[in-house]
Amino acid sequence: MTAERRKLVAGNWKMNGLREDGLRLAREIAHRAVAAGRDAGESLACDLLICPPATLLSAIGPVLAGSNVMIGGQDCHAAAKGAHTGDISAEMLKDLGCSHVILGHSERRVGHGESDAIVRAKLAAARRAGLTGILCVGESEAERDAGRALAVVEAQLAGSIPDGIGPQEMIVAYEPIWAIGTGRTPTPLDIAAMHAHIRAVLGRRFSGGNGVRILYGGSVKPDNASALMAIADVDGALVGGASLAAGDFWAIARSCG
Ligand code: PEP
Repeated sequence: MTAERRKLVAGNWKMNGLREDGLRLAREIAHRAVAAGRDAGESLACDLLICPPATLLSAIGPVLAGSNVMIGGQDCHAAAKGAHTGDISAEMLKDLGCSHVILGHSERRVGHGESDAIVRAKLAAARRAGLTGILCVGESEAERDAGRALAVVEAQLAGSIPDGIGPQEMIVAYEPIWAIGTGRTPTPLDIAAMHAHIRAVLGRRFSGGNGVRILYGGSVKPDNASALMAIADVDGALVGGASLAAGDFWAIARSCG
């Protein structure tokens, strides 16, 4: 693994966490990270990121200060500002101390009708604001059963990556829709094949495509994380449900090596 592709474990809290619970969870994660920083035997072989609901970003930012745990948003609007009731711009996330933003999650593609073109504009907005966009791609179960998984993901990459973006300005998260929140995961061979395909597509797209981290997401848990992290071209994980328990999130981070 090159220095540029140090693993990343990112927690997607989704729409979970009122103030008290969210702050407690963030404190527990920060506490473990600070302790690990002090103790070489505990130190992590990955970067850590949490993406709480937007309502908690400003409260959690100070909790993470000095811990090396980064904070990110779960979505942003493509515009920098304007008449977009209820939306949040990439600049606003940056202003709150975010370093990353998740974009094109299947729950937004499916639940909010986000097309590749919309996701592409959001990724360009993240870049404009100085955020790293975590671009989510992944096939449905029907698409996998039809043997179309690689083609579907390739088309999502082609449609969702803006021209001119650099390999350090984005991360790809491969998240098969049928694996999210279901307890099911693709076989290691299927994940390896998909990540190799994504890497090849990125390599054709950018001169430095090898520098783009490719995360796996979909039912990553403490008991399967080590095996998932050992798969070639898996540069970390995007974790949903298991990121809501500090112990589980930490165990996944420890599995990076
Ligand atoms: C996700 O929604 O990004 C995700 C990976 O969820 P889970 O880990 O719960 O499957």
